[in-house]
Amino acid sequence: MFRLIIIQTAIISAVVINCVELMTLDPKLQHILSNQTNQAREYDSVPIESGADVIDAVVIKAVEIPEERVTYEGAQLWRVLADGEQSEFVSYLQDTGDVSMWTGNESIVDVLVRPESISRVTRFLRERQVKYDIIIPDLQQAIDQENPSASEEELEELEGRKARYAWWKRRKRQHKSHIHSNITSIPRYLVASEYGGGNDVYQKKIKKGELDTLMAGHRMEWTRYHRLDDIYGYIDYLAQTYPDICSSMAIGTSFEGRPIKLLRISKGEKNVPAIWIDGGIHAREWISTASVTYIINYLVENSDDLKADYYILPVVNPDGYEYTFRGDRLWRKNRSSPEKGGVCIGVDLNRNFGYRWGGLGTSRQPCREIYAGTGPFSEPETAAIKNFFEATSANFKAFLTFHSYGQYILYPWGYAQRVPPDYADLDRVAQKSAVAMKKATTQNTVYTVGNSATALYAAAGGSDDWAKAMLKIKYAYTIELRDKGRNGFILPAGYIIPTAKEALASVLTITDAARKL
Ligand SMILES: [Zn+2]
Repeated sequence: MFRLIIIQTAIISAVVINCVELMTLDPKLQHILSNQTNQAREYDSVPIESGADVIDAVVIKAVEIPEERVTYEGAQLWRVLADGEQSEFVSYLQDTGDVSMWTGNESIVDVLVRPESISRVTRFLRERQVKYDIIIPDLQQAIDQENPSASEEELEELEGRKARYAWWKRRKRQHKSHIHSNITSIPRYLVASEYGGGNDVYQKKIKKGELDTLMAGHRMEWTRYHRLDDIYGYIDYLAQTYPDICSSMAIGTSFEGRPIKLLRISKGEKNVPAIWIDGGIHAREWISTASVTYIINYLVENSDDLKADYYILPVVNPDGYEYTFRGDRLWRKNRSSPEKGGVCIGVDLNRNFGYRWGGLGTSRQPCREIYAGTGPFSEPETAAIKNFFEATSANFKAFLTFHSYGQYILYPWGYAQRVPPDYADLDRVAQKSAVAMKKATTQNTVYTVGNSATALYAAAGGSDDWAKAMLKIKYAYTIELRDKGRNGFILPAGYIIPTAKEALASVLTITDAARKL
């Protein structure tokens, strides 16, 4: 059942993109597909140069395409205690399709066990005396409880509140710097009743044209995981509202045609290091994207203390990210269409970078979750990052990529259990970071520092190895955020703020180190 659903989803998406012959499918599906095909054609025909508004409108349309949703009813997350021989048993079960791996190190492997495989896997492990714990007894239930939804009214209220707050902050700042001599007192923060139309006294203080900005807020906050629209809306909003420090650009276009939006936060000071921060390269790692947007919020709101130029890409894999909301919560790869004759969609973008591509911990099989693609940078999302770095003249000293889960601060190399010549520096700064992350909340969260391939597992073609080896960026880290397996990828939204505070602590520590170079 599980596999059937996956394949059906794969076929639908393949048709949307490639307009494959529809004759062999049942009539009901054909109808849906031909509608989707028309939408896809419309989608394809929009020139990318025609402005962000048009692209956004088209993306919204694409999101509305009805798609089969993968269910995880009855599927479980197990932690298998494994070393040596035992981990071979797990890879055997992966090959038979009974389990798929979430994470693992030398002593444990976390696997998703498909509902129809539970009794077979139980028998198989018991016969071999391999111990395991059931961590999540029903994944679908966990997924359903992970992310509380907001009503339209709540979102509208939020948008208005944020807009008013921005107006107030900007006015306060203008007052402070005496740019506008006509402002004689610090403006009071507007409450809802004070901005909502009519002949309100505060509206008179709003300059002509400023009302539009006031009304155009954003929906971002950190008690829920947000859709791509909200995140991109937030980036646009920041660029519009704080043009002195924020600028945004699309560094490329995803496979399905979504812009890949980067935000630059900079005071334009000379001799400060540039720092790269990305999230969401693996679609299902929602906490990564949520934490990166939280970091953006902090840096903008504390821009007086900005110590570096930040280049931030919160969603490296926008197609995959959107697909985790409307198709398969546990999708990892991008959404590129299969090679000719194939059925499996997507490439693991963090195996697609051009250093030691195709080595350990990668696969040439398109159906595997660690499929490395047809060649280095074969995917538009990774190529966009490569092109950005080839074009930029910024002085990058740190490259931070956020993932989940496991609570690790990892430094190169990932391709093998080896370290770069300056690994002692990377280790020292990572240890400092771990201390700061522990202090970031009252929960004293422990992050383990180590070399990628040793602390976790070997994985060639990762972005951190490429940044270190090819771009020669000193502090290249992969940070695996919370948790250590209790919830795995399905980290309830209530954990966003504490986790994001830890992520921010690592950014600030690494910024300090980068400034000393
Ligand atoms: Zn990841």
